[in-house]
Amino acid sequence: MQKKNDFIINRPDEANVPEDVKEEFTQSYAVVKRLLPFLAKRGIPASPKNYRIFYDYLLYTNPSLNKTINELLDNNAKFYSQLSSSLYDHFYSNEALDQQAKAINKAAMDFMAISSSMEQSLESAISQTSRYKKVLNDTSKQMAQITSADQLQPFLEELMTETEQALTQNDSFSSRINEANQIIATLKEELKNQTALAKVDELTKLYNRRHLNIEAPRMISHSLETGLPLSAILFDLDHFKRINDTWGHNYGDKVLIICADTIKKSARGSDLPVRFGGEEFLLLCSGLDLLAAARVAERIRLVISNTDITIRGNSLPVTISSGVAQYIPGEEINDLIERADKALYRAKGEGRNRVRLAESPDGTDLASKT
Ligand code: GH3
Ligand code: MG
Ligand code: MG
Repeated sequence: MQKKNDFIINRPDEANVPEDVKEEFTQSYAVVKRLLPFLAKRGIPASPKNYRIFYDYLLYTNPSLNKTINELLDNNAKFYSQLSSSLYDHFYSNEALDQQAKAINKAAMDFMAISSSMEQSLESAISQTSRYKKVLNDTSKQMAQITSADQLQPFLEELMTETEQALTQNDSFSSRINEANQIIATLKEELKNQTALAKVDELTKLYNRRHLNIEAPRMISHSLETGLPLSAILFDLDHFKRINDTWGHNYGDKVLIICADTIKKSARGSDLPVRFGGEEFLLLCSGLDLLAAARVAERIRLVISNTDITIRGNSLPVTISSGVAQYIPGEEINDLIERADKALYRAKGEGRNRVRLAESPDGTDLASKT
């Protein structure tokens, strides 16, 4: 039995989150009680972002968050604002998407408001027009019976007044239409931006995993329908942690951007370049078989290892390893990526800065050909 103030937590895992703490109330108080001593003990600022990240860490709500935090804790990472912002963006990007969803929802509401006011002015323009039509009709009938010029005067006056009124109504209606048109154009543009934003990773501008989950099934169907091959290259920067540790997260981010750009430039229009994880990228190549994709991977590896990256006068050896796999009909996207990941693991094990191939669809090991 644990004493009241004797709580020391090292590695939360599913096993030691007690069942009874899973009730929301009890749970939140229990976690908060542990959270501040946990942060203080490790010299982690209790900033709102750290608070959120470590709250989830203690609760073990996201195994991948815990894995990353554990690695960072092992390496005595400093959870100052840059690191916590980057972690926050990475693990809570869905919340940013929720924000976007709210913005889109607001745009839709604005549009509904405009269209309802348009409806009203359209109705009044229609009733004004039919009234004007009736006046013209009546007046022309009556004018047919006129025999002298002085009888004409009141008709002309009435016609002028009615015409003016109809014109004013028309003017205000067209200016409302213009106004609505402008708002619709703005909304359209905003929607386009939001939709584009929801697809890309903020730091590298590669596609995010959310977009991968939407696009991959389409690319698989396309491959199955056309019989054209589909391959995946999974990249992972070598010893990237050293760059962060030596030069700081900020420079680490710059290196990530440079590598992502190289991958983006190598992608053809039909390929999908994705930021798959922190320093992991995925290139899904439509129409490329295993060996053709391996050539792309090798080209990217060479470009990155030959890129001269200098930080404060120090030249940085940046290299990337990758694993390549060709889609086997019937498998899921995750199976394909997992096979690429196994090949990547071999590339790491065999010394990094190299490309390794998963078994070919017919089971032959092509690794020796790279
Ligand atoms: P290996 O060659 O085995 O892949 O070694 P590694 O150091 O690249 O791999 P490891 O998984 O140990 O470390 C990956 C590091 O990437 C740890 C994490 O802090 C860092 N990282 C993840 N996302 C970001 C990010 O957005 N920006 C920066 N600067 N670093 C990140
Ligand atoms: Mg990695
Ligand atoms: Mg790595």
